Amino acid sequence: MKMTAAVMYKQGLPAPYADSQPFRIEDVELDGPGPGEVLVEVRGAGLCHSDLSVVEGLRKRPLPIVGGHEGAGIVREVGAGVNELAPGDHVAMAAVAGCGHCRTCLAGRPGLCQAVTASRAEGMLSTGSRRLRLANGGRLNHYSGISVYAQYAVVAPSSLVKVDPAVPLDIAALFGCAVVTGAGAIFNSAKVRPGSFVAVIGLGGVGLTAIMAAREAGAEKIIGIDVLPAKFDLAKTVGATDCVDARDPQAVQQVLDLTYGGVDYAFEISGNLNALIMAQAITVRGGEVVGVGIGKSSAVFDVAQLSWVCEERVLRGSFMGSSVPQVDIPKYVDLYLRGRLPVEKLRSEHIGFQQLNRGFDLLASGNAIRQILLPHSL
Ligand SMILES: [Zn+2]
Ligand SMILES: [Zn+2]
Repeated sequence: MKMTAAVMYKQGLPAPYADSQPFRIEDVELDGPGPGEVLVEVRGAGLCHSDLSVVEGLRKRPLPIVGGHEGAGIVREVGAGVNELAPGDHVAMAAVAGCGHCRTCLAGRPGLCQAVTASRAEGMLSTGSRRLRLANGGRLNHYSGISVYAQYAVVAPSSLVKVDPAVPLDIAALFGCAVVTGAGAIFNSAKVRPGSFVAVIGLGGVGLTAIMAAREAGAEKIIGIDVLPAKFDLAKTVGATDCVDARDPQAVQQVLDLTYGGVDYAFEISGNLNALIMAQAITVRGGEVVGVGIGKSSAVFDVAQLSWVCEERVLRGSFMGSSVPQVDIPKYVDLYLRGRLPVEKLRSEHIGFQQLNRGFDLLASGNAIRQILLPHSL
């Protein structure tokens, strides 16, 4: 079928993106679904910081490619052998989707699956096929096995999680990346205990979800840290007990004072190396630094060996919330429906394809929490 999609031909174009247009909005062809694949009508797709890092060229991707790795929609057709989903089902589309039978998948860590990582590096679905084509018939790659900056997507069912139709689809879209990453960092990766002191550096969609989840986990102090104090009101609304301006030269001391010597868990969400250094500086002896934000592939983080050992410090990586989307998303949806994970507060604005490139300027400035692309209605 013919459909509209946002195609990236080149990474690393200069900002402002409203001018350089890293995403070209054009008609492309979508085939399928083949055996073991599902056709989804995309009803919402989030703009995430890791999309921005692909725009910036920090992580190389096969080009041309249709962007977008966090979305939701309605199943329209299932290929042969797909029994778990049917046309009409509402689904969240998750970037984490393991092969299901390798060592890491069997250990409940599909985000670390090497088989899927390899197919994605080739711009293919995990089924080994490509269903996208340029209008001229040329090769067009899938991004993260999803490619939701498009009106429709053919994906493997392992990327899909059925959601209660009571969840609006523009909200359901957030569960695929922002919510699993932020909530999973708290519940799965760090397993935050009641009464803990927590800091969250970077108050975008993932960071604010982490704050909501820390509150749900019973953290006693939750300190939101960002370079934009304009975000502090929202952070406090969703659970932050205190907020600190990261640009303040006294920021580290402020956190130490608030926590009698440091937090038990410092979550670094922004992907910025200086923020990771700050996370280490505000963590108490015996505490954990949890890296969530995806940085440059060339960035190297120094750890003082003596203090790491003698102070029993933990440095933990948390990729996509260490999530198993099929297990975690239904739990988070349930918390949302009961008002305990108010992720609707993350949605900043709806945009159409024509505002997509400008949306990345807004994201880069830090002035948008989660913009949602509506591929059909705007
Ligand atoms: Zn993301
Ligand atoms: Zn696997």
